[in-house]
Amino acid sequence: MISMNDFTREPEALQEAMEVAFRTVMRSGHYILGTQVENFEKAWAAYCGVGFATGTGNGLDAIEIALRAAGIGAGDEVITSSVSAYATVLGIQRAGAIPVLADIHPGTGLLSTESVTRCLTSKTKAILLVHLYGQVRQMEYWKTFCAENRLLLIEDAAQAHGAKYRNRCAGSFGTTAAFSFYPTKNLGALGDGGAVTTHDPTCAMKAVQLRNYGQMRRYHHVVSGLNSRLDELQAALLSAKLPWLDSLTHKRKMIAARYRKEIHSDKFTFLLPPEEEDAHVYHLFVVNCNNRDRFMTYLKSNGIESDIHYPAALHQQPASLQIRTDSEGLPNAEKYVTTCLSIPCHPFLTDDELDHIIECINKY
Ligand SMILES: *Cc1c(COP(=O)(O)O)cnc(C)c1O
Repeated sequence: MISMNDFTREPEALQEAMEVAFRTVMRSGHYILGTQVENFEKAWAAYCGVGFATGTGNGLDAIEIALRAAGIGAGDEVITSSVSAYATVLGIQRAGAIPVLADIHPGTGLLSTESVTRCLTSKTKAILLVHLYGQVRQMEYWKTFCAENRLLLIEDAAQAHGAKYRNRCAGSFGTTAAFSFYPTKNLGALGDGGAVTTHDPTCAMKAVQLRNYGQMRRYHHVVSGLNSRLDELQAALLSAKLPWLDSLTHKRKMIAARYRKEIHSDKFTFLLPPEEEDAHVYHLFVVNCNNRDRFMTYLKSNGIESDIHYPAALHQQPASLQIRTDSEGLPNAEKYVTTCLSIPCHPFLTDDELDHIIECINKY
């Protein structure tokens, strides 16, 4: 079976570097908030082109902390896309704010500018922009839109490690940004992990407090915080992996380029190509097709795994039915979740496997 991810295929040199990292932490006798976390935070901030990165326990907490560190809380409305991971909406609620779900652009799966405009109220405080699948788009538009409407721009960059728009990295556009290092993400730990990035020293200081019980210094609690620290072990593993990120992203882009060039089928449509080459890091390669179940079964019978991101829009989830949405409805999101399909795009696919996938799809 050709799977959506296969970590056992990580290069030998990378696996060895991770073993060294593991042994170093194990033998250091220090497991929470030490030099490994500090070093990774510095490296991640430098990679993203921001002043500060703060490690967190996971991506959900990173969203909550990113919002709270930017000053968003009770009574504030935060507009986001209804096609995203559940953590996007839950993070807003966990920050004490009120999520408002907007529709998407069907060609990209990203937040629709018209729908966001319809969702604005006097209480709107921020837009949580999700760089879905690794796409960074229309950043000039969103920056201007937020400035004109006196809103904060916050990024959910959990799928967009290293995606660049006009030479700036995902995670460097907003007041704050949230990353996840869940194992399947483009930069993944061997467990849970996350980070908040920012240019603003005050937001960074708040993030440092919030992730560690709201402490300003030991046993001095200034806000009601979380226990959401990135482990020394995960930080060391992430530092070992970081030097590989660009070459693995390059492989994802090559796979996407082959799909776009060599798949010829009128059974489905690709998403719009990125505005510039580096503005998509292909965390997922997504197509839209009718009769999706039939196509998935066909792929499976040919030894090809596929997946759906996501099978329901956030406003359709049982836990989220009360959440306010665009008053004109979310027809694009509702249609999109019935047709979107992710096909394998991980960096360890072999040429033979890619040939097989492309051939099978073209024969369908
Ligand atoms: C993975 C993901 C998250 C949540 O990250 P966790 O580390 O699983 O909590 C948030 N937003 C998006 C868009 C994601 O893909």
